[in-house]
Amino acid sequence: MTTLEARWVELRERMNRACRDAGRSPESLQLLAVSKTRSPGEIRALHALGQFRFGENYVQEFTSKHQALSVPPLEPPIEWHFIGALQSNKTRAVAERAHWVHSLDRLKLAERLSAQRPATMPPLQVCLQVDLSHEPGKAGIAEAELQALADAVAELPKLRLRGLMTLPAPATDPVEQRRPFARLRELRDTLDQRGHDLDTLSMGMSDDLEAAILEGATLIRVGTALFGPRSHGEAPA
Ligand SMILES: *Cc1c(COP(=O)(O)O)cnc(C)c1O
Repeated sequence: MTTLEARWVELRERMNRACRDAGRSPESLQLLAVSKTRSPGEIRALHALGQFRFGENYVQEFTSKHQALSVPPLEPPIEWHFIGALQSNKTRAVAERAHWVHSLDRLKLAERLSAQRPATMPPLQVCLQVDLSHEPGKAGIAEAELQALADAVAELPKLRLRGLMTLPAPATDPVEQRRPFARLRELRDTLDQRGHDLDTLSMGMSDDLEAAILEGATLIRVGTALFGPRSHGEAPA
């Protein structure tokens, strides 16, 4: 067994165990493999094990890997999720390639993505990123502004609002870890009560996925637990 395969098996076991502890069916949980800083070869190797959802953080890196993995196309095709900070002058590359964006936090970005989404492609699936850390400068929309953004995004023709995403400040205590995830679920429920129909909670990473699954994550975003530590640091934005 390769190291990648061993990590893959171990992660699937963690996911299954957490679903069992939460009284959930494993089918209610999706895995997004976060492949920032990883090579197209590493993505291919994981795809060969059965993983087809991949998440990228940096526009340039995303477009070059998207290109590298398009010929020959993989079967099943990769479902690309953009999960990183997005500048408005770089939305077109994402609108033309991604299936999902998780990091939507401003109306201006949403309007550009919708306008730039090619007519021949289905609507871009989006999650609104919510800042629950209340630290200045953190990405994400504030809770107080979430409802207005959700209402506006839901009106855009080439976006489909699917849910909410959060990236909490790291915490080691499992009780502490659950707090922002529980809050994100409450915010999703509130939006649903006001007429939205959100089926996605994108929350939980390598170190806190159990806490996120207990609080109702439908998609966890995992990098390190699959690919190992990112030894070369983060790629440039
Ligand atoms: C890098 C990253 C992840 C994955 O983090 P790991 O701790 O490596 O699992 C998840 N979500 C976002 C937004 C990220 O940038």
